[in-house]
Amino acid sequence: MQKLTFVIGANAAGKTYFIEHYLANEKAVVLDVYDYQQKVYDEHGNKELITFEEQFRCLKKANEKHLHDIINELKQGNNVIAEQTFFKAKRRIAYIDEIRNEMDVKIEVYVMHPSNERWIENSKKREDIKNIEVYENQKKQMEFPNPAEGFDAIFEVIDDEIILRMDDIKPEIVKQARQELTEENTRIRREDEREHKHRQLIESMNTRPFWHYCEVCGKKEFITAKEALDAGWDYPPHFGEFGLLGPRTCGNCSLKDTLFWKVHTEFPLPIVINEQLTPEEKIIWQRIKAEPESLLEEK
Ligand SMILES: [Zn+2]
Repeated sequence: MQKLTFVIGANAAGKTYFIEHYLANEKAVVLDVYDYQQKVYDEHGNKELITFEEQFRCLKKANEKHLHDIINELKQGNNVIAEQTFFKAKRRIAYIDEIRNEMDVKIEVYVMHPSNERWIENSKKREDIKNIEVYENQKKQMEFPNPAEGFDAIFEVIDDEIILRMDDIKPEIVKQARQELTEENTRIRREDEREHKHRQLIESMNTRPFWHYCEVCGKKEFITAKEALDAGWDYPPHFGEFGLLGPRTCGNCSLKDTLFWKVHTEFPLPIVINEQLTPEEKIIWQRIKAEPESLLEEK
């Protein structure tokens, strides 16, 4: 029977070193989730401007690819060593459930728990030297693996000591984790649906008629983007973007009388500050922020 060995723990906990020095005899394919994360982030592009949700999605995608390759290697008859952080029981259970569904395999885990001194030593060897508080925080996040999660053996590695640590079986951990995973998946599905609907709505704005409000003279017309363009309107999608500050004028009015102009020429920073707006401007800004939905029905 093939063996799958997880080596888990914080950054700079010594996972790679441990694999090279203690698990070299396993003759296993090593799959490090970090490589998958780097690849997904590269595909995503700008890592500096990534939102929390995008980051979550990237990590999720990396895990999916990592898991996929683990299963593939096991199916080909290879032993596998998988490097992961795996602080949370639910992340481990998501893997184990899927693997156990596919095949019969022996699963072990080594939890890297170096002393603070050792961690600092490791961290210095790397380029990304971090504060010891980072490690202490990550240590607190670690939910120590429980046999109920489906491990055949659980080891704790403290510096150079390897200790078999099989805590009392706690089935409630698994129950709770599965419930959290279900909730997480529901949330993701809803978010995807919302995103999809929004994209469809934005797409439809190219062809459907919608309300065009001139913020200067108050004129309003229920027309398509093409008709608005021909009539000289400055309006998304041809000018600017829905939901972002920009001029909203008919063909007869001037850019210089818009909220956009005021914010860019009179405000210290080109940011809308609600308190500095007149009641009329507040209405205009509310409508812009709520686009394109705010343009579908007459107000
Ligand atoms: Zn006008």
